[in-house]
Amino acid sequence: MNCEVCGASNARRRAKIEGTILNVCDRCVRSGEEVARVEIARRPKPMYTAPRGMDYSLKEDFGSIIRKNREKRNLTQEQLSAKIQEKHTIVKRIEDGWEPPLVVIKKIEKFFNISLMGISAGNDYKIKVEKGGMTLGDIAKIS
Ligand SMILES: [Zn+2]
Repeated sequence: MNCEVCGASNARRRAKIEGTILNVCDRCVRSGEEVARVEIARRPKPMYTAPRGMDYSLKEDFGSIIRKNREKRNLTQEQLSAKIQEKHTIVKRIEDGWEPPLVVIKKIEKFFNISLMGISAGNDYKIKVEKGGMTLGDIAKIS
């Protein structure tokens, strides 16, 4: 781990510097107040728990994309819902902008042979941002 003060690679200690607890090296620990090692051991590791179903992102106008494709095929909402074996109200709500479960999206994509997904703003994106170092290259890789 790198020292968050000077960047040295041997940051084995933690110190409170200007109100923030930082990972620091043996040298930089002196510029702050060292946090006891016992306390560090007890501190639970920060866990990132991914919210279920958030690892995909729909295009903003997915509702109107579906409506246009449905109308192109001269299907009513009832007919489309029958084709994808979902309730009529589901199609109606989706076209009104309600985000359905991924499985329903997949069925619609397959039926119309279209893509309703945009750049993922889901877990991958968030994890990269939390770690810092998000680059345009990273965005390109995700998409
Ligand atoms: Zn240092």
